[in-house]
Amino acid sequence: MRLLTFLTGTGTHVGISAGEELDVIDLQASLARSGGHSPQVLAAATSMLGVIEAGDTVMNAARRLLTGDRDALVAVPYTSVRLGPPLPNPRTIYCIGLNYAAHSTEFRGAEAPIPTAPVVFSKPIAVTGPGDPIDIHDSLTSELDYEAELAVIIGRRGRDIRAADAFEYVFGYTCLNDITARDLQRRHSQWLIGKSLEGFCPIGPAIVERDDVSWPPALSIECRVNGEIRQRDNTSRMIFGIPALIECLSAGRTLRPGDIIATGTPAGVAMAMDPPRFLRRGQSVSVWIEKIGELVNVCDGSAGADPA
Ligand code: MG
Repeated sequence: MRLLTFLTGTGTHVGISAGEELDVIDLQASLARSGGHSPQVLAAATSMLGVIEAGDTVMNAARRLLTGDRDALVAVPYTSVRLGPPLPNPRTIYCIGLNYAAHSTEFRGAEAPIPTAPVVFSKPIAVTGPGDPIDIHDSLTSELDYEAELAVIIGRRGRDIRAADAFEYVFGYTCLNDITARDLQRRHSQWLIGKSLEGFCPIGPAIVERDDVSWPPALSIECRVNGEIRQRDNTSRMIFGIPALIECLSAGRTLRPGDIIATGTPAGVAMAMDPPRFLRRGQSVSVWIEKIGELVNVCDGSAGADPA
């Protein structure tokens, strides 16, 4: 099942679908029409965070909708929906740096060892969705870069999780573009500022539930700028795989439903090209991951995400 957040004149809605570009089912409206659901289930179905926190009760009801009587469904053609970020209000966004060997080498040089423990930082900003502009912040940076990443959505609360149990804590996956101002990243030593200007965290287009993907995920991942392939790899080549990342991040710290882990980017970022080819106003950037879909955003100087 795919889960997405779509926007209408009446607000944001959780949508579900059985496959890419198929009709989007309005989850809450369809549960209300089909009847027999508690007020708690109907309330949880109004937001993605509510769906994730409710766990199996809402997800099982959603699965029954997709396999049951289609007359009960409130469906919207995929081509007419306006998508928002699939999880508009994530809790903490954890990010992993240098998690593909070739990217570690292009970033730090061939002499530097690859990391022996995960490099972790955070993006304490609002997420944006498919089609939202990437604010180029040209008064602050002239080195705007992209990073295609597989994002893990945490589905269950847990601390001190063993790698062998990590699967149980995953809700699903989406695409994330870890937009970065390289000059700010260098200037401030720690990475938070260079990676946390408003608009620097597009996610989407949908969340694919964990059971629809192999474990641990081995998915093709690509980034294109104006259609030109800049990054192409497979998520099976992470240095620290998702089980190890969940074990590391939950050691002495509680992971919560709605946390996101951005698992790192492959080689091919703009700063490593010779000469570097940073993002410019008007360019289109797409992150594509097998089984999840394509997240497309255009660089723009006029708009960023409203943190409210
Ligand atoms: Mg990154």
